[in-house]
Amino acid sequence: MSQVHNWQLGRPMEYPYEAAYPSKQFAFVFNINRCLGCQTCTMACKSTWTFGKGQESMWWANVETKPYGGYPRHWDSKILELLEEADPGGMQWRGDAEAKKPYGTYDGKTIFEAAKSRIGDHQQVALGYLPNDDEWVTPNLYEDVPVGPAGRPDALHSQGTTLPAHATWFYYLARICNHCSYPACLAACPRKAIYKRPEDGIVLIDQERCRGYRKCVEACPYKKSMYRGSTRVSEKCIACYPRIEGKDPRAEGRPMETRCMSACIGQIRLQGLVPIGPDGEWTEDRKNPIYYLVKVAKVALPLYPQLGTQPNGYYIPPRWVPRQYLEQMFGPGVGHAIDAYTRPDRELLAVLQLFRRSNLIVFRYEIEPGPKVWETQTAQGKFELYDDTVIAFGHDGKELFRTKVEEPVYVRPEKHLNSI
Ligand code: SF4
Ligand code: SF4
Repeated sequence: MSQVHNWQLGRPMEYPYEAAYPSKQFAFVFNINRCLGCQTCTMACKSTWTFGKGQESMWWANVETKPYGGYPRHWDSKILELLEEADPGGMQWRGDAEAKKPYGTYDGKTIFEAAKSRIGDHQQVALGYLPNDDEWVTPNLYEDVPVGPAGRPDALHSQGTTLPAHATWFYYLARICNHCSYPACLAACPRKAIYKRPEDGIVLIDQERCRGYRKCVEACPYKKSMYRGSTRVSEKCIACYPRIEGKDPRAEGRPMETRCMSACIGQIRLQGLVPIGPDGEWTEDRKNPIYYLVKVAKVALPLYPQLGTQPNGYYIPPRWVPRQYLEQMFGPGVGHAIDAYTRPDRELLAVLQLFRRSNLIVFRYEIEPGPKVWETQTAQGKFELYDDTVIAFGHDGKELFRTKVEEPVYVRPEKHLNSI
């Protein structure tokens, strides 16, 4: 095993291959607070890539209801249980956060390090398991099933909805492949059929080389590599790479976001490309919205960073959920992220307006200051709202769009009152 640097863990870690980094990395931010579980993203992906024979149970993009739901069923509790067995009590963080290790240091074992302690017949490159057929057939079992005092009508509306954590809660977790910096799927493939593109870090399976051994399905802790019985090879999310290459006819050569991002009704999704240095760190790109949300505002956090694949999907955690539950899922940055989101500063509020105003990838933003339009007192202090304008620029530096913090109000003229 080689030593590679995992900035999400704040330490070097073991990985089967030497470090090799793309020049840019596909990355995305999902704002869980806004997801309504409509599954439009899920269907946008399904109708584009997985509508064929043998793909009936294949959902590259899915939305599951937490804490009970999961696709495949219980994927997260199963991998966490395996990690706990291999490294009892090990999943702990040390709070020495600084610029180079924004969440502190993870002291436990990753799935690559823990796999070494498994001896005998079942030697693995990454700790994992193969879900059975049943586990793949229910993409959103436990939909809208909450934690809390079920059957008590007063529970939800009395003390139940008081922040910081509701007594009765659930939330929607939208997921796609994280196009990880240290992909477990790639590490486990005995055919070397999986590769990471040097230009954008997208992880793909070469359909010609794959022989369907399913080692990637077993190793991916997020279970985003899937086996297709009709072709006997594995498949996974391809990050809609033709769109990112500007090949969609409507893109006119400009990089465009994926189908699931573009379709999002709740406007929870923003996707981009972040520049990567030779050491694997994100190169400072202060006005790139993804860089800003993850590295500067630190309002968006990786999903299960302790697994060690350095996933490139980031989530703004839901405000109403008990912190302990969120911390096991997103690491120790949860408290800061929720505080920042609950009382956003001027820049964060402006950047949040960029979500889903265009399907083209935003590479840079600028903010033009506007007038103060509102102020109030919150539990954390004074909050002031400015009607700033945020301007988005594309890959060639040209303006894509501009939008304001305050949503415009349209008054319907007093004619045709009975029409829409
Ligand atoms: S999420 Fe899974 S399938 Fe996607 S790159 Fe990471 S390890 Fe591979
Ligand atoms: S389309 Fe957007 S709002 Fe609807 S389920 Fe998907 S992520 Fe959530």
